[in-house]
Amino acid sequence: MLMLYFRKKRVIMKKIFLLSLLVNSLFASKVSFEVLGSGGPEIDGRASTSYILWIDNKARLIVDMGSGSMLRFEQSKAKLEDLEAVVLTHLHIDHSVDLPAFVKAGYFSKRRKSLDIIAPDGNEFFPSCSEFLNDLFGKNGAYRYMQDVLTKESDSFEIIPVNIKKETKREYKDFSLSFIRVHHGIVPALAVLIYVKNKTILISGDTNDANHNLEKLAQNVNLFVAHHAIAQNARGYATHLHMSPFIIAKVAKKIKAKKLLLTHRMKRTITKENETLRTIKTIYKGKIIFAEDRMKMEI
Ligand SMILES: [Zn+2]
Repeated sequence: MLMLYFRKKRVIMKKIFLLSLLVNSLFASKVSFEVLGSGGPEIDGRASTSYILWIDNKARLIVDMGSGSMLRFEQSKAKLEDLEAVVLTHLHIDHSVDLPAFVKAGYFSKRRKSLDIIAPDGNEFFPSCSEFLNDLFGKNGAYRYMQDVLTKESDSFEIIPVNIKKETKREYKDFSLSFIRVHHGIVPALAVLIYVKNKTILISGDTNDANHNLEKLAQNVNLFVAHHAIAQNARGYATHLHMSPFIIAKVAKKIKAKKLLLTHRMKRTITKENETLRTIKTIYKGKIIFAEDRMKMEI
């Protein structure tokens, strides 16, 4: 009798467990990362750098808006209305040039809520985020016909510059972002760590990681998005700007990345994938993926 009671209890507990698994899987929020642009500044059939963070099938964040990212955004069926923030890791053309196109498109969208545009603070060679938006949309800006977008009286939505001067964290409704300055020649540049539903994604931005700040920003990341703009045999100024595959591998190992996504691909690295893989695999043992435009992965 007692045995029967325990057996029945075990069966009930098992059913409850299976049911809770089913409920969890039905209601668990889904986080995905989409590459809009996997290329650099060249004419090569790829859009330049740009990524979307999708949460529960809504595009909540764009990181970088290189050329072609607007078209890829349209193709991905993302909506401007769903965005909570935009990050421009630095203000090189291949990371920022489509911003005015997105802002103009907003005029024809339903979005009315303001939108943060986050970018590094400037130096003598590059504008700060506020200066950049002013150069585009200010009273004396190139697109001064749309100067209302920098005000609350905007006909569509207000864009709000956020200058990142030092290590900072910013909270949004569904995710948070941590920033650190990274070395990219004379260019003020950021790496960004995204925290979303107990998952983390580190985007290196363009950097040669000379100051080792990537490992200071992140540990145990689910996805490391590394800008792979030079091959292992690169020499000269390019190595002052970008990480070699060897450095990418060392960082990926150090931060214990579960997956490594190689993006910002350029002609000088394309066709050298086997060599790159060989170099990286001697150090880093996780999964390695070469990015393509519109590649989307669950995190
Ligand atoms: Zn750059």
